[in-house]
Amino acid sequence: MKTVMYCGTLFDGTTGQTAKNQVIVIEENKITEILEKSQYQPEADDKIIDCSDQFVMPGLIDMHVHLAFCGKAALTELTEPPELVALKALNNAQEDLMGGFTTVRDAGFSSLRGAQAVRDAISSGIVWGPRVFTSGMYITQTGGHLATTYSQESFGQQIFKPVNTADSPDEVRTACRMMLKYGADQLKLMVTGGVLSNSGGVGEQNMSYEEIVAAVEVGKMHNRVVSCHAHGTSGILAAAKAGVTSIEHCTMVDDEGIEYMLKNNVAAVPTLIVLHVLADGLSKGVAQSAVDKAAYLLPKHADNIRNAYERGVRCVFGTDTGTPLGPHGYQHKEFVYMAEAGISSEDILLAATRYAAELLKWEDQIGTIQPGKFADIIAVKGNPLEDISSLNRDTISFIMKDGIVYKNEQN
Ligand SMILES: [Zn+2]
Repeated sequence: MKTVMYCGTLFDGTTGQTAKNQVIVIEENKITEILEKSQYQPEADDKIIDCSDQFVMPGLIDMHVHLAFCGKAALTELTEPPELVALKALNNAQEDLMGGFTTVRDAGFSSLRGAQAVRDAISSGIVWGPRVFTSGMYITQTGGHLATTYSQESFGQQIFKPVNTADSPDEVRTACRMMLKYGADQLKLMVTGGVLSNSGGVGEQNMSYEEIVAAVEVGKMHNRVVSCHAHGTSGILAAAKAGVTSIEHCTMVDDEGIEYMLKNNVAAVPTLIVLHVLADGLSKGVAQSAVDKAAYLLPKHADNIRNAYERGVRCVFGTDTGTPLGPHGYQHKEFVYMAEAGISSEDILLAATRYAAELLKWEDQIGTIQPGKFADIIAVKGNPLEDISSLNRDTISFIMKDGIVYKNEQN
């Protein structure tokens, strides 16, 4: 039996263009055919999904979520037992899927294997959820961004070094290999201080160029993506020079950083939403230090991303969802902030579909609606190319991942 989807407007993600009155044919979990509605001969047992009045596009991909974190005002999950956090993470992943995110990349978990457990439980069909790509634990330094972990709390502060804390190129290599050994899909480095850290300045470079190079070497040997958290200018420059795959936040990027991003084909994952939310979070319980740091960075972020985008840096969709006041499945305001930063509607939709798939090195499987791809498809009321704010949890009327329907408000 075939599932046949009638599409009023189809954005297939191969280009920024759309086509009217198309039919997508789905068999099991794959897209098998796309054709004009007038050319399709219905069969008696076709299962019809009628989105004739809707905007149909590939399932959304969020390249920067933290499944371990639940979006509460404080990151209490950092010091909770890893088993409990993994169960919460599954719930978070499911919320992301119900927001239309058929794929998420975990940008660093609070325990070594938690994200992989969620990924594997979903992919083996034991539980439902989005496709999950993992980083294992983010790799940080002694006293670095989010260096506190459950193990430190349990066994006394700093008695031993957690596996994700590395203070030399050799230690970074070991930490990277440890993540891959325990099943991470990719590597995530904390290159500068962060908004949610208790110590240090937000933009201070914490990881040296040589340490980043060591991680990039490991990534290249294993054909893995290396993403870097970086707010400050010097950390962004070091990461860009070292040739990482993507720079997350990319807040204080300057012209020299942009130059190296272009030279080494480094993408930006701006996560504009998180600074907006945190800067406004004091009355909702966010720590004063985090509010101050976010407020300091916020005014520069959009302008710097605009500069990078206009000069040709590829911007890919990510949100930092899970961090304080960023609940999973409700991260769509990032689309609006990207538009405010000057990114075209076409590039915004591509950023959350094909560009993201390409960054994951999964472009032959997901990110576009083409024969042979997994059937990860959403439908939206309204036209996001004309009004990007019309792409949100409420307007997404249909969600299919891997050929299975998770939301369907059609008749
Ligand atoms: Zn993050």
